[in-house]
Amino acid sequence: MAITSDKLTTSCCIAGGGPAGMMLGFLLARAGIDVIVLEKHADFFRDFRGDTIHPSTFQLMKELGLLDEFLQVPHQEIERFTAVFNHTPLQIADFTHLPGAKKAIGMMPQWDFLKFLQQQASQYSCFKLIMNAEVTDTITENGRVTGVKTSSKDGRSEITAAVVVACDGRHSLLREKAGLKVIRSGVPIDVLWFRVSRQQTDPSQILGRFSSGIIMVMLDRNDYWQCAYLIAKGGYEKIKEKGLEAFGNNITQVAPFLADRVDELKKWEDIKLLSVDIDRLQTWYTEGLLCIGDAAHAMSPVGGVGINLAIQDAVATANILYGPLREKKQIDNSLLRRVQKRRTLPTRFIQRLQTTIQNSVFQKRLSATNKTMKPPLFMRLLNAFPLLQRFPAYAVGIGLRPEHIQTPDVGRAAK
Ligand SMILES: Cc1cc2nc3c(=O)[nH]c(=O)nc-3n(C[C@H](O)[C@H](O)[C@H](O)COP(=O)(O)OP(=O)(O)OC[C@H]3O[C@@H](n4cnc5c(N)ncnc54)[C@H](O)[C@@H]3O)c2cc1C
Repeated sequence: MAITSDKLTTSCCIAGGGPAGMMLGFLLARAGIDVIVLEKHADFFRDFRGDTIHPSTFQLMKELGLLDEFLQVPHQEIERFTAVFNHTPLQIADFTHLPGAKKAIGMMPQWDFLKFLQQQASQYSCFKLIMNAEVTDTITENGRVTGVKTSSKDGRSEITAAVVVACDGRHSLLREKAGLKVIRSGVPIDVLWFRVSRQQTDPSQILGRFSSGIIMVMLDRNDYWQCAYLIAKGGYEKIKEKGLEAFGNNITQVAPFLADRVDELKKWEDIKLLSVDIDRLQTWYTEGLLCIGDAAHAMSPVGGVGINLAIQDAVATANILYGPLREKKQIDNSLLRRVQKRRTLPTRFIQRLQTTIQNSVFQKRLSATNKTMKPPLFMRLLNAFPLLQRFPAYAVGIGLRPEHIQTPDVGRAAK
């Protein structure tokens, strides 16, 4: 939909149509709450995101009565995570024992997942998604955020709301405008992001590949591999200096089956540098404004858990806010504090885990030159004792304090 008026009013205004924003918008609209989601891009077709659908998300789809429909969206399912270390496979996570609707990690391009949420949400007349609408500022009255200013191809407009939820990702403008204090963790890695074509005979079910000084994660997108090549923070220029051929040789060293295809990377523009951040807000809210997902806690791609946390935040927010919104009560700080209180433990646990893995595994391996370097002890233990593989599977697939749908379905209305 387009913005047709320079002033709109809604119950909940959501900035950002990523996993957190789309899930929250859907759940609130399904519960009969007027909601406007503002997304600055024209579509969901953006590349720099993970593709993981976690077992917890499959379970939420089941609770929403949408699991069968959701499973029709093309995806692959991975039951076990295998890391290849110097060409030796090590199994490190086993999802087959998890509770819930699906005992596997789904791999689905994120644009398909967001499109699915959009299609579901669009069946409720309370839901409005405005694409191409960038939030540019907050509207504040007597110290309370009462709405946002937006800019779109249709011009500028103002949207007032009982509550504004910032789901605008790790570079959140709203959290900056609100002056919320950010606690940053040092991150020793960045990611180079590129595609190489995929052949049906390529090995599947393997995500991480390690060799001396090289770590690469590969996401299967059917006709191509989306590759995430980890580098030491700030190290891209050094890699460029060595040239594309040397870079291609490194890829082949860690994934030999790509040898006949690395020359698809013809120029450095084919390779995007993604800066990795881990941070979290000290306080996730101010009067009238709540931050969730990466806007409240930017996640590293390590372990592929940021989408899970974003969705779980959205479910917790909907569970806590829909009642007061339906009763048109003032959304005060005590309600917003409840969201932060509920979601802080899972967030801090995963961020601590990501920081530990980055510092003790990735940083060490990226600077290694020893070709016979052993896999880290924890990987060897996981591989040797399959029972232990259930722990990382639970942390990645479900996480601490899993959320469940408590919001009602007030019925779909033809728009
Ligand atoms: C390279 C990389 C790979 C990753 N891989 C994985 C993975 O495999 N699995 C996993 O679980 N996590 C992964 N993550 C982390 C994951 O992408 C995030 O944690 C997750 O996307 C957070 O969801 P979100 O909805 O909070 O924010 P985002 O996904 O960042 O969505 C924010 C949305 O807000 C929009 N927006 C921003 N500013 C504005 C504005 N001013 N006005 C309107 N709209 C705005 C953006 O366009 C975007 O659509 C990865 C991260 C990186 C960097």
